[in-house]
Amino acid sequence: MIIVSHTADNGANMELYVHIPFCVRKCDYCDFLSFPGFGCGADEKHRSLSCRYTDALCRELKSIFSELKDNGIKCDTCFIGGGTPSVLEPEETEKLLKTVSEGISPVEFTVECNPGTLTKEKLELYKKYGVNRLSIGLQSADNGILKVLGRIHTFEQFLESYRLVRSMGFNNVNIDLISAVPGQTPDNWKDTLKKVTDLEPEHISAYSLILEEGTPLYRKYEESPSSLALPGEDEEREIYHYTGEYLETKGYNRYEISNYAKKGFECRHNKGYWTGEEYVGAGIGAASYLSYKNALKLKNIPAGTGSEGNMFRIKNTENIEEYISHPSCVTEEVLDIEALMAEYCILGLRMTKGISVTAFKEKYGTDIRDRFGTVIDKYLQLGLLEQQDGYIRFTDKGLDVSNTVLCDFL
Ligand code: SF4
Repeated sequence: MIIVSHTADNGANMELYVHIPFCVRKCDYCDFLSFPGFGCGADEKHRSLSCRYTDALCRELKSIFSELKDNGIKCDTCFIGGGTPSVLEPEETEKLLKTVSEGISPVEFTVECNPGTLTKEKLELYKKYGVNRLSIGLQSADNGILKVLGRIHTFEQFLESYRLVRSMGFNNVNIDLISAVPGQTPDNWKDTLKKVTDLEPEHISAYSLILEEGTPLYRKYEESPSSLALPGEDEEREIYHYTGEYLETKGYNRYEISNYAKKGFECRHNKGYWTGEEYVGAGIGAASYLSYKNALKLKNIPAGTGSEGNMFRIKNTENIEEYISHPSCVTEEVLDIEALMAEYCILGLRMTKGISVTAFKEKYGTDIRDRFGTVIDKYLQLGLLEQQDGYIRFTDKGLDVSNTVLCDFL
């Protein structure tokens, strides 16, 4: 059995993710690897940390780029995420973008931004170094809901940032939204969708809130579940269905469970994740997903950990001082062919297009039905999956219970 196209050897492609772990303040629902106290008004200690981190990040990027070049590997996409990458000062922003643009030529180059942290000067730098996609965290058009989430901005401040972005000629913009927030009613969510689609962004991500352990919102819930007024299951389902239907009438196609795009504006970087492409991460806590050969070269995993045919999930250290002085990483998972096939199905089914039966065979040298025939047939019969034009995908009914179905592929 041979893995044909997971690896990015021989002139193929891989995605690049760059992590900026700084935010102005910590949102009440956030469990991402990010630290508060950065951006405009930051004290000397935070400013210095952000400078030292950017220098270390550029060093790591240069070393990754040198390996990519030596091995003829391209990066078609770069995603600078966080945290809030737009809190970086112009000088650090320029240092980072210059490093990226000297190392690779991404076709899609995204920077995540938050309202209240964007300036004309930073956007000019984004333009200068080839950033062609911006992803803005709005979450809700209702200032009360933004307060519940602990966001730093109001809807009006978002509008200011959005107009600035558009006036500077950025024509590929994503807006992030969160539904199922305590206190949010279906009508309130509908109003957010209307206000957002009136602005005509090219892409919308709409996730449901997950109460992550250790966050202030989670603690509030633990203390008094009733005080949070979380939407019930039926309300959540109503919101989910309405979102898909409404966005479709506005010209957005749902191409993944939570992602919607106008024609030609699907996020190439994320599609790489969902189709099992290799990716390399830079910065603290950044994850990489690499073939054996590339894990040896790009992340210095010790020889003898796993073997050819395995894929590696590797994570950079989460300790910022350790990263600055001596970047290290750990191999979190070695995936064998069985795990890879299951993961390919689980990620592939997140996309509304589904899994290509032919692509599966090309990748793994085996028919998808030989491996997952029983589970596929079970859900085809229940009307939760369908097979059409060489693709296996969820039906609308199946999307409602997608988690249960996906678990059966494990
Ligand atoms: S802006 Fe994003 S990364 Fe930063 S605290 Fe809020 S949710 Fe977390």
